[in-house]
Amino acid sequence: MSILMDRVYIMINYDYIIIGSGLGGLGAAGVLVKAGKRVLIFEKNAIPGGRCSSYKKKGFTIDYGTHIITRSEFGPIGDIIQLLDVEDQLKFFHLTRMPSYLLHKEESYGPFGIDIDQKNTLSIPIQDKNITKLGLKKEDFQNIFANMSKLVQNISITKTEELNEVPFQEYIESLQLGQGVKQILYFLYMAGLCVMPHEGSAGEFLRTLLYVMGSSIKSVWVEHDGLSFGYPIGSCIAIPKAIAHGIENYNGKILYNKMVEEIIIEDNLAVGVKTKNGEIFKANRIISDIGPKETILQLCGKEFFEMKYINQIHSIKPSIRSLVLKIALNKKITREPFQFLLTTEMEKAFESALNNEIPDIPIGIFIPATSVMDPSLAPKGKQLLLPGTVYAPYKDTGMNEKKLKEKVLSCMELVFPHFQNYIEWVDVFTPEIAMKLWNNVDGAINRVGQTINQVGDNGIDFYTPIENLFLVGCGIGKGLSGIGTEFAVESGMTLANNLLIKK
Ligand SMILES: Cc1cc2nc3c(=O)[nH]c(=O)nc-3n(C[C@H](O)[C@H](O)[C@H](O)COP(=O)(O)OP(=O)(O)OC[C@H]3O[C@@H](n4cnc5c(N)ncnc54)[C@H](O)[C@@H]3O)c2cc1C
Repeated sequence: MSILMDRVYIMINYDYIIIGSGLGGLGAAGVLVKAGKRVLIFEKNAIPGGRCSSYKKKGFTIDYGTHIITRSEFGPIGDIIQLLDVEDQLKFFHLTRMPSYLLHKEESYGPFGIDIDQKNTLSIPIQDKNITKLGLKKEDFQNIFANMSKLVQNISITKTEELNEVPFQEYIESLQLGQGVKQILYFLYMAGLCVMPHEGSAGEFLRTLLYVMGSSIKSVWVEHDGLSFGYPIGSCIAIPKAIAHGIENYNGKILYNKMVEEIIIEDNLAVGVKTKNGEIFKANRIISDIGPKETILQLCGKEFFEMKYINQIHSIKPSIRSLVLKIALNKKITREPFQFLLTTEMEKAFESALNNEIPDIPIGIFIPATSVMDPSLAPKGKQLLLPGTVYAPYKDTGMNEKKLKEKVLSCMELVFPHFQNYIEWVDVFTPEIAMKLWNNVDGAINRVGQTINQVGDNGIDFYTPIENLFLVGCGIGKGLSGIGTEFAVESGMTLANNLLIKK
């Protein structure tokens, strides 16, 4: 009797099966359906988008993960939307200001930071004279944006590649930069690329900065004459929803609530997948968007690979982890779409992060007010803030998240006094939620961190030792760069284009 007797066989033969409807999987699917391929996508959840998706609660629409899209419609997300002819289904709010505050003990100083509307200075001048009390110079906190753009004014992509293996912190400390620019750069680095500055790649950061504000290559800054940072109208799920519509318009099929449990491998060839409820689907090629560790170690099994490859997969360093609060307020307390709170004691905060201790003041807190960017995300007169901080670099150390949550709230009080009186409810997003929701073994922001040994030509390969089995997603694809969602889309699109050429 065949041990396969209890399995249900599905006879349609697809060209491609894609596991996961994150932006990597959708990017790949979009290119393939447009080329006329028969594509079937499996998603374990009821909605598309993975870490770039949203949920509803008591009249609010709240993002699970992603907050801001670095190049909005001018980057890879715009490319896939255009390719699938669904540009009309995705609009962005564009940020022109990013005020920041410095936190020191029980005080806050600021605002300083980026203000594109003020074309002359391109920064918000710091208001506090007292900053000198902290041993800091007021002028270091002015013209932040102009000083940041100098970093990439005369740099080429080739030059950034030479800096791939130079740690970001080492690079920044070797430059003559004011403290204010450094604070912003360190925080942007950690919030954007989600890697600790001492092991993150300087080249990778400069490339992402070049895409946004460089003047020596075709960058968004030059084309758009402004900061390209954007927030999707309708919340982050608007992005995967629009791409998914496009895919379905071109006859791609997405099966929701269908978890893949096994990749079927015969004679070193990936031939299909088995779902959690025992169905089997076949395809000529399988693309997995669920992360290298999850794909190779969980869905395939170690027995199909040489030890060297298994060790390589085991040793992939994820990005850092994050704690994000979803705060529903019964009153509007700010008009700013996005703010940063930064500590004056950056080094102390780095040390706490590395030792998995709760810092006096976190490295930084970013505060997207998504209902300022799209008022439909909160009931009338109310407001939604999604403050987040990065912590516990790589693994679960049992850090007391309740205490960290209280710390974030008390730091916010320094800038928004008594705001806690208006809290209706707070949801807390932790790495454990990421593990459960998206089957993410490390609970990290990105499954592959853009560290010095994992970028450029050292990047994680699309191609696996199993024939017809490929990986996509944020951090996957040699020579690719970018922030979270954009990296994921580009990864999917690049692999799909390569496969179409290869036949
Ligand atoms: C808190 C947080 C904040 C972030 N902020 C930003 C930001 O501001 N800007 C930005 O650009 N990026 C941000 N990111 C990162 C960005 O969200 C991710 O890099 C990107 O969305 C990853 O896409 P992906 O396709 O690689 O993977 P995922 O989004 O993880 O997609 C994988 C998909 O596969 C599904 N899946 C998993 N296992 C299975 C299975 N066995 N069978 C079927 N389906 C399965 C999952 O449910 C998921 O939908 C943030 C992430 C987090 C967590």
